[in-house]
Amino acid sequence: MAKTGTIVIDPGHGGTATVGGSSPNNARSPSGVLEKNLALQMAFLVRDALAEAATNGGHTIRTLLTRETDRNLGLRDRALVARNNNADLFLCIHFNASNAHNARGVETLISPRAGNSNHAADRAFAQLIQTATLKALRAHEPLTRDREVKDQSLAVLRESNLGTRARGCLVEIEFLDHRAVDQLFNLGANAPQVRADVAQALANALVEAL
Ligand SMILES: [Zn+2]
Repeated sequence: MAKTGTIVIDPGHGGTATVGGSSPNNARSPSGVLEKNLALQMAFLVRDALAEAATNGGHTIRTLLTRETDRNLGLRDRALVARNNNADLFLCIHFNASNAHNARGVETLISPRAGNSNHAADRAFAQLIQTATLKALRAHEPLTRDREVKDQSLAVLRESNLGTRARGCLVEIEFLDHRAVDQLFNLGANAPQVRADVAQALANALVEAL
């Protein structure tokens, strides 16, 4: 079935200063790869995969990125890109970090039920994103942990910022500060394939969700 819709992809962080609650960077890999740069690269790959999926499937998909360069935007301004463009779907892309640098796994965050009239729809969308990401990663690392879809209050997903039209979620693809994830996404011979596979999985889930 041909799908039509607008998708906004939001690569987390950017630039060198905190803007409107958005820090310039959070996770950093042991080899020095910054979350802000990897998130942007993933956003470009997802956009490319969406364009290809649209061509192949006869879909009419408008894809927008909240940023295409190394700059930061406030959390409300990121949501407003979706709101002001009447987006159907809003996907924030991040990588995680833990204090002890030993956590692993994929999780997808949605705005909590209180104050979120789209909670059920957001959860269904987030579950598609979570399942697709997990499956793509498990093709390379079968034991990748499912940290599941979780409610978390985040300004970038808040209904007062995002509005009520778009379904939104934030995927934390993996823990970038873990050595094994650095290997998987950045250093290993397979790293470009891993990045491409995760992007393809995200694009497929987005098309399915439209
Ligand atoms: Zn982040």
